[in-house]
Amino acid sequence: MSEPKVDETTSYQEATVVCPLCGDNNFLLWATENGYRAVKCSNCGLIYVNPRPPLQTIAEAIRTGVHREELLNLNVVARRIPGKVAHYKRIISEMFADIFRKNQSICWLDVGAGYGEIVEAISDIAPTGSRIEGIEPMKPKVYQAISRGLLIKEGYITDINNKYNYISIINVFSHIPDFRLFLQDIKKVMLPHAEILIETGNAADVGERKHFPGELNLPDHLVFAGEEHIRRYLAESGFELLAIKRLRIDDIGWFMKNTIKSIIGRRVALRLPYTSPSRTLLFRARLVA
Ligand SMILES: [Zn+2]
Repeated sequence: MSEPKVDETTSYQEATVVCPLCGDNNFLLWATENGYRAVKCSNCGLIYVNPRPPLQTIAEAIRTGVHREELLNLNVVARRIPGKVAHYKRIISEMFADIFRKNQSICWLDVGAGYGEIVEAISDIAPTGSRIEGIEPMKPKVYQAISRGLLIKEGYITDINNKYNYISIINVFSHIPDFRLFLQDIKKVMLPHAEILIETGNAADVGERKHFPGELNLPDHLVFAGEEHIRRYLAESGFELLAIKRLRIDDIGWFMKNTIKSIIGRRVALRLPYTSPSRTLLFRARLVA
């Protein structure tokens, strides 16, 4: 069977884009990887891939977990990480302790649920009678999660008809070309005064590229924020910030892993434990408008 013909001149053309947060078109080159450029907005400091792969290619890559660009040969499907369940049980119990203490059932949706580790974590700690669901566009991940008895649906946020008290968006931010539009879709499935939990890295806060540990995974990752950028997205979209957690990633285990990676020739920023400016940021916010 032959591949469907694609019009290379239109639908699969890379596009030069303006900063997805502030709309400015001035930038400085920040990094190159896999033949793509990540630039830093001269106005607001957001980092984004520019030129950007066509939206059609992005959607397809997200659905299948495989990038169209044959040159890259970059498969991002990865696999389920059992340790993630314990990690998120700890983090979410801490950040939402007040909610779980009330012992009233909740409806929670995890967006970009992957193999369902977060759905599993919340199901374990949520009050009895709660409905914990996920939505995930990558077919292989969804099938695996369903086979393990988790309530994960295949598709995008726009395919959701229910409404929820809580929405988690864990490590999804960098995959979304326009997070402002994405938050509008998120709001459509939120009950009044519902809350969101966003997790992303702080690459835009670390300074030069060399301070970011590891690969950027361009163009699977399209946008990199810092704390102020997420605060701005939230405020502009009618969310009130309730809490922020900033997690170090550079413990001893990280140091050992990076040392091994560097020995086998992977691109990593080697530095001593507890010296990296890199953080994982978690934002809990409530819908007010
Ligand atoms: Zn900007």
